[in-house]
Amino acid sequence: MTDTVAAALARVRGPAAPVRHNARTIAALTGNPDCRRRAVLDAAGVDKTALAQYVGHPARYGQSPFAIIRGHAFEARVKADGYAALRALVAAKLPGADVAGPAVDLGDGGADNAARYARTRAVLGGDEVALADHPLLRLSVAGQHVYLEPDLVACRVAGRLHVVEVKSFPVLDGRADPAKVAAAAVQAAVYVLGLRELRAAGGADPDAVATDALLVCPRDFGHEPTVAVLDLRRQVAVLRRQLRRLARVADLLADLPADFTVDLGGEGGAPARPPGAVAAALARLAARYTPDCLAACELAYHCRAEAAGSTAALGPAVREELGGVPDVAAVLAYADGAPPADPTQAEAAAVLRRAARLRAEALAGAAVWEC
Ligand code: SF4
Repeated sequence: MTDTVAAALARVRGPAAPVRHNARTIAALTGNPDCRRRAVLDAAGVDKTALAQYVGHPARYGQSPFAIIRGHAFEARVKADGYAALRALVAAKLPGADVAGPAVDLGDGGADNAARYARTRAVLGGDEVALADHPLLRLSVAGQHVYLEPDLVACRVAGRLHVVEVKSFPVLDGRADPAKVAAAAVQAAVYVLGLRELRAAGGADPDAVATDALLVCPRDFGHEPTVAVLDLRRQVAVLRRQLRRLARVADLLADLPADFTVDLGGEGGAPARPPGAVAAALARLAARYTPDCLAACELAYHCRAEAAGSTAALGPAVREELGGVPDVAAVLAYADGAPPADPTQAEAAAVLRRAARLRAEALAGAAVWEC
């Protein structure tokens, strides 16, 4: 990153300390890859949670304390007795896995990230260890080093390393919540990239990191673990593309006014600027709200309020069904028989008019039937 870009990002953020990415926030980058607002704010390390709160639309997601406790209990269960359950699951899913070797917990190396990272690199560069617990990885995100801690890495599986994700959401009758599986897959893909960067930094072959990860979850309503293989090739490719885009943040900054900032205005980023002024500044940075933002971005409620009245706010599928007409008001007017404001919307207007007529006929028919 050049000094000019670094200075521009610092101005966007203001004097507040930059917020660091973690695996969840990096994974979320794939959720809405075309949103310029998110790309710039994330590259600048803006605290989006504080920003959303300040402009009056606080984020409303996160794990419940109950889910966190349940997650810890399940993880302890699968790692008990020298990782016995995990070894059996890895052996069952990855033929040829040498799971009998030692397991090393790299999470007890103190708070010094650089030392833990070096130790992880030494362990994962060798072939003595079968399981590496809590390894510390690093990934470059928009010119910053982000430290990441996957649950576990299975080593020595035909010379390859496999990420193992332990999640506490249940698999009921062989099926898990698809949204949760998708989120776990993207998070595992972040770790794959981190592992590859670690291997490359140590002069080892980055391609020895497999794009097949293992997902370990509780079976049904108990604590008995079950395992599935996740193919991460698509997620790894999408993430790579997004990370490259963040690295090219200069292109995104070029379209912004030279004085653009979401600084809250006070000392060290403390609130001082009127919230309306901060929201107005934010509005100059193009967003691309979709309902999926609600589960992935701290600014979702702000962007949703901003996008109210647009068909895009209802999601790409609904917008497409409505013929690409951008405003809900225009959709209702066309359904009511108003002429199209734009000749390119003539076909959509005719379809909406017909749909409204059919609906009215169906409702009238239903009323007659009831009589
Ligand atoms: S919530 Fe807003 S900033 Fe975040 S990804 Fe969606 S549109 Fe972009």
